[in-house]
Order: sequence, then structure tokens, then C-alpha cells
Amino acid sequence: MKNYKLLTPGPLTTTDSVKREMLFDHCTWDDDYKVITQRIRKQLLKLAHVNEEEYTTVLMQGSGTFGVESVISSVIGKEDKCLFVTNGAYGERMLDIAKYHKINYVVLSEEYNIVPYVNKVEEILKDDKDITHVMMVHCETTTGILNDIEAVGKISKKYSKTFMVDAMSSFGGIDISLKDYGIDFLISSSNKCIQGVPGFSFIIANKEKLIESKGKARSLSLDLYDQWIGMDKDGKWRFTSPTHVILAFSKALDELEAEGGVVARNKRYSNNNKILRNKMKKLGINSYLEEDIQSPIITTFLYENNDFSFIEMYNFVKENGYAIYPGKLTKVDTFRIGNIGEIYEEDINNLCDIFEKFVLIKETI
Ligand SMILES: *Cc1c(COP(=O)(O)O)cnc(C)c1O
Repeated sequence: MKNYKLLTPGPLTTTDSVKREMLFDHCTWDDDYKVITQRIRKQLLKLAHVNEEEYTTVLMQGSGTFGVESVISSVIGKEDKCLFVTNGAYGERMLDIAKYHKINYVVLSEEYNIVPYVNKVEEILKDDKDITHVMMVHCETTTGILNDIEAVGKISKKYSKTFMVDAMSSFGGIDISLKDYGIDFLISSSNKCIQGVPGFSFIIANKEKLIESKGKARSLSLDLYDQWIGMDKDGKWRFTSPTHVILAFSKALDELEAEGGVVARNKRYSNNNKILRNKMKKLGINSYLEEDIQSPIITTFLYENNDFSFIEMYNFVKENGYAIYPGKLTKVDTFRIGNIGEIYEEDINNLCDIFEKFVLIKETI
């Protein structure tokens, strides 16, 4: 099989050194392994700019959605009510989760190309005194739009609400100060901007709020509090942990630091994103979002050609060494290109050359 690089929002292209870490079958109850778990938990707190007295990290088996479901089903109690702020498929997935667990909620839903306005959130919080929690997505990977978690977090704190963020596709690629933003629970996963391989999610939690959630969980395996209690003692996971994935993730965290941390990684992603959007525009392929709300994580491109076939485009690009992503909008023909992962300016230039060829072929038919 011909190899290709991933320009998708995760799993993404990882370094060979990260992949090589997985060539070792580690014992789970061994002290060396528990130390790795504990070290990862500490490193994540550091990335989030919070200290061990106030915050803690819980690692959770499964993909990112398992982490989101763990938080929603463990933290929002029977008497509580959550305001979900949505403008894409991942926000809507939170509602699906809430329905499964019969959680009391209200929604502020915006169009996919609109950043939810903080004043609207405030109006709802003023009117509905029953609301106890606010939850939203940071980078909506559906489109690549970047939501203002800082503003919504501060408003949530002003009204003393618990604020929860799905920062799956942004944490590690965009600097987030949890405490400054008023975030009580933040969820991300191993295979996004930290550039590890898929297999677990992690939750950075305000300890006081986590302790308050004791006994509220609606599921055994996703019980966030229980997972924390088990892990916090000595780094032992409650159930089988994804050992190979953990080793790779630990390496990926060290490589993030070596790159210069989140700031340096953000710079690389942002620079690549800018080059990509500019070059595509020259080819007549415009991005779906306005520049000021576009994240450096993933870009949705419009393909306003009558005979658009994503599969045809995908196969052509793949033949030339890159895998792109389908669009997720229903009303317009789009496709997406991810920026995250071990991708450099050279890749973006290569990719745009490939697109130039593709556009030329389409025009001459
Ligand atoms: C990737 C992602 C998720 C989780 O998806 P999984 O397929 O479960 O890993 C959740 N929210 C956002 C915003 C994402 O980008």
C-alpha cells in the first residue's frame, strides 16, 4: 500500500519516533508504567496553565467522544440543568449524549458559520435561574470555526455556573489558560494537537467540582470521579489501559515541549493554514469561513463546481501522497483540509501543487 500523510482532524500524521514507542509491550501494574501515567497527567496540567492544588487530570479509555460523554454523564446531576451552546456537529453530539442520559438541558444554537455571541449566553443565564452548567466546543471541527470560550467562560463564572469545554481539536495547538478562562472541565484526546495516536481521552478538571460530582455518574465505565480516585492514588487505571498509546503519547508530549510548546506549535499550524488558504484562493477555491473566525486547525473549502465529486478529488490527492477529509455541511459542496499533525510548509506547498493539477484537469475536460 502506498503511504500518504493525513491532512485530517485526527488521527493525524505522527512522527516516526512517536510510532516507534509502541514497539514495547508494557506491563500495566509495573511501577515504571504508573510513573508514565502520572507524568503525563502532570504535563497536561502544565500545558493548561493550572496547578496541582486546584486542578487534576483524568485519563479515560476510548476516543474523544467517550471523554465528552464521561463528563456530561458524571458531572451534571439529576437536579442540575445544562446550557449547551452549539454551532456544529460536535455541539449537537453533546445534545445526543444528554438525551441518552435524560439530562435536563437548554440549547443556544447558532448557524455553523456564526460564533455564538456571549451576550446571548448572558441573556439566557439571567432569565433561567435553574441553569447550573454551561458547555460548548472550542474549535468546531465540523467547519473549523473558533468559538470564544474565554468570553463565555467569564460570563459563566460571573453567574457562578460550572463551565465545560470540548477542546478536542484545539488543546495543544491553541494556548488555553483554564483558570483564567473559568473552565472547570476541559476534554481533549490523544490523537489531536498533542500528536499522539488514538486510544484515550483526557479531562482536565477543577478538583473541587470533580469532588462535588461524586456519586452522580450514570455509567460505571465512564464514571469520571471513580476513574480519578483509582488513578490519582498511584497511576493505576481502573480497567485495562491502552499501554502502547500511552507510551506514544508520553513521547508526543516531550516532542511538543521540544518544538517550543504550544506557542511554537500554534505558529507552525497558523502559518501553514495561512499559506493553504491563500494558495487555494488563487486557484479559485475559497474557504467557507471569514478569516477572523477561522481556526488554524482545519479549514472548510467550498467547491463551487457543478460536477464536484469528492471521491474523485480524494483519490487524485491520495495518489499524490495526502489524504484529505470530506465536508460536513449539507447545503453546500465542501471538503476539509486539516492542518494539525506532523505537517510542514513543504507539505502545504506540495498539496497546493496537487490541487493546481486537479483544477487544471477539471477545466480541460
Ligand atoms: C475529534 C473531535 C471529537 C471526538 O471525536 P472522536 O471521534 O470520538 O475521537 C469531539 N469533539 C471535537 C470538536 C472533535 O474535533
